[in-house]
Amino acid sequence: MHVLYPGSFDPPTLGHVHVMERASRLFKKVTVFVAMNPEKASWCTVEEREEMLRRIAARWRNVAVSSGQGLLAEHAAALKADAILKGLRGPADLEMEHQMASVNHLLCGMETLFMVAHEGYAHTSSSLVRQVLRLGGEIRPFVPEEVLPLIAGKR
Ligand code: ADP
Repeated sequence: MHVLYPGSFDPPTLGHVHVMERASRLFKKVTVFVAMNPEKASWCTVEEREEMLRRIAARWRNVAVSSGQGLLAEHAAALKADAILKGLRGPADLEMEHQMASVNHLLCGMETLFMVAHEGYAHTSSSLVRQVLRLGGEIRPFVPEEVLPLIAGKR
């Protein structure tokens, strides 16, 4: 099965990497998809996020990276993905995701699969990383090595 794993990845965190790692073992192919939202200001550019994800994806032979804007279900279908994969950190994630999964199924018949965050990753988020960096803290506990050179100078 080929799954599309979408998100903002602004920046990628160890939580994302853990999902990628587990998915790479379960599925034949994983495409990590940077979903661009022109209405939402981003911290890293799409190119930067893709570059960080490509460096991370180099760890596995079956993980690719792509990006796009517009309807996710259409991108998933165009890339010939069999399903969308989302991570669930807790009940708050599910509330939002439940609705999106229904819409994607209605639009394209695309199924959404959920992977529950393991203990130790459930509280890691991109916004947490941005906040720690802004406050001058150490971000190494939250991000993979591959992203450090690209976000080192940012605040
Ligand atoms: P964020 O809310 O941190 O900006 P993204 O939009 O980049 O998240 O997340 C992309 C996908 O990865 C979503 O399905 C999200 O639920 C999942 N995800 C994010 N952080 C984690 C984590 N720590 N553990 C498991 N899944 C996660």
